[in-house]
Amino acid sequence: MKKITIAIDGHSSCGKSTMAKDLARELGYVYIDTGAMYRAVTLYAIKAGLIDGQNVDVDALRAQMDKVNVGFKFNEETGRPDTYLNGERVEDRIRTMEVSSKVSLIAAIDFVRSAMVALQQEMGKGGGVVMDGRDIGTTVFPNAELKVFVTASAEVRAQRRYDELTAKGEKCNLQEILENVQERDRIDSTRAVSPLRKADDAVVLDNSNMTIPEQKQWLMELAKSKIS
Ligand code: C5P
Repeated sequence: MKKITIAIDGHSSCGKSTMAKDLARELGYVYIDTGAMYRAVTLYAIKAGLIDGQNVDVDALRAQMDKVNVGFKFNEETGRPDTYLNGERVEDRIRTMEVSSKVSLIAAIDFVRSAMVALQQEMGKGGGVVMDGRDIGTTVFPNAELKVFVTASAEVRAQRRYDELTAKGEKCNLQEILENVQERDRIDSTRAVSPLRKADDAVVLDNSNMTIPEQKQWLMELAKSKIS
């Protein structure tokens, strides 16, 4: 069976990564969460004191970019890849509201994007990969055999993120999360470099009223039709 490249792009918190992970596991493909890579760079910038409010010290980050090593290691226990920053497992720390509230600022910086895109192209060069993000079908793999653009209403997405964080025991506020989701959409869609947009040849999935098993089945059928 041929090994294709599958690009899953879309808005924040619409369940892309859950769908993409499940699909990769079913197909025996590698899953790459590109949002985690931008989150890891953001965590680095926070730890290095390079973000003050909504201002990033871009020159200092540029000078330190070669010290920012982002990668993944497969976790045998969870059966999923964990994100590493400079050798340290940061899978949980990159999912906090603190990182979520800054990541779109970092992801809008041109040299951060070019470094991450180069890594992503290298990781996915052999095919057999499911990559999720914002610009996979438009910039990272414009020739991907299957492109899906996932969306849902901002309210539904905020509620899902709230449930996810609450389940992890993180104290959070639904209104704050809704504002974060809307703000990330705004920054991601209006930035100068690789703004979030649907690739012309992407299939749209609005999952506002779908369950996770329904989405999974929808995506699996679509992928199978492209592979066989
Ligand atoms: O997918 P996730 O919500 O974890 O992504 C976090 C942020 O990283 C997004 O809000 C976006 O600003 C940025 N991102 C991006 N390009 C990607 C993946 C994520 O700009 N390919």
